Amino acid sequence: MVNSHILPHEFEFVEPHTLEEALTCMAAYPGKAQFMAGGTDLLVQMKMGRVRPEVIVGLSKIPALRYLILDQGLRIGALTTFRQIERSELIQRRYTALYEAAMAVTSIQIKTMGTLGGNLCHGSPAADSAPPLIAFGAEVKMINGDRERVVPLETFFAGAGQTLLTQEELMVEIRVPEPRANTGSAFMKLGRVSADLAKVSVAVVIEREQDICRDCKIVLGAVAEMPLRTKEAELILRGKIFKEDLVEEASLRVSEEVRPIDDSRSTSWYRKEVSRILVRDALNLAWERAV
Ligand SMILES: Cc1cc2nc3c(=O)[nH]c(=O)nc-3n(C[C@H](O)[C@H](O)[C@H](O)COP(=O)(O)OP(=O)(O)OC[C@H]3O[C@@H](n4cnc5c(N)ncnc54)[C@H](O)[C@@H]3O)c2cc1C
Repeated sequence: MVNSHILPHEFEFVEPHTLEEALTCMAAYPGKAQFMAGGTDLLVQMKMGRVRPEVIVGLSKIPALRYLILDQGLRIGALTTFRQIERSELIQRRYTALYEAAMAVTSIQIKTMGTLGGNLCHGSPAADSAPPLIAFGAEVKMINGDRERVVPLETFFAGAGQTLLTQEELMVEIRVPEPRANTGSAFMKLGRVSADLAKVSVAVVIEREQDICRDCKIVLGAVAEMPLRTKEAELILRGKIFKEDLVEEASLRVSEEVRPIDDSRSTSWYRKEVSRILVRDALNLAWERAV
């Protein structure tokens, strides 16, 4: 359907001020309500007629969901925006790939409204925050009534536009472990123009010990039905001396592991080629930073 720029149906809008109220509101409309954080994905989906919630439970008046705390790693409230991430000196220094992902989000308007929780819960394979968060080993905390669960973000995605979240479940927090010493990271994204979703994105986190790659995670966006960790490529580097031919071999393996599609943004062939090049460059940059 064409994006008409007009909301196609009427809905009720409720704005709770606490987590408990938000969950109570959601439970009151089983199967009919949907949470909204910044609305930058949800409203587009509604305009395109892909979802038709009868009730929207707005989260933006719940301050308890908006925070960045260092506490045995980093704890990020689900309502934290990309703008808050890119303005955090701590994230820039210790979680550089996440900072670079926030920087890469298209515009100041989207960064100001768009939240990390919304970015993940929408379930897009092109979500910019997913590759760096998976590469840093993040977990997400979700609550529903008095039940809560914490799952590795790597297992949170269930297909294009699909996640483990149930309709009444609220993501409250993203937990990112403290990177070990001598760890470096990098995020790179290629879009059609700078203000666009990724054709391909890559996050790399590397831990080094002198000239050896002790550990390495390589995660790509927009090259499969969900964010993809390329474990075979990681194995090529792990525990080995970091040198050019191995980086080339690992980057080539990435282009064999990805499963991109042809769509309006790019072709499968091009995405594979770009994956190889972005991974090579991100590996080298993360390595240089791991001192
Ligand atoms: C013009 C434009 C440019 C964009 N550019 C980029 C870009 O460069 N990179 C990028 O990654 N994305 C981009 N996006 C997509 C979007 O802005 C991001 O995904 C954003 O982070 C979504 O966050 P939100 O708070 O607006 O989510 P919302 O639209 O409020 O919610 C998205 C989905 O998540 C659910 N949800 C939200 N929060 C929670 C929660 N805490 N618990 C449970 N469910 C929840 C909602 O019900 C909805 O299904 C762009 C969108 C537009 C319109």
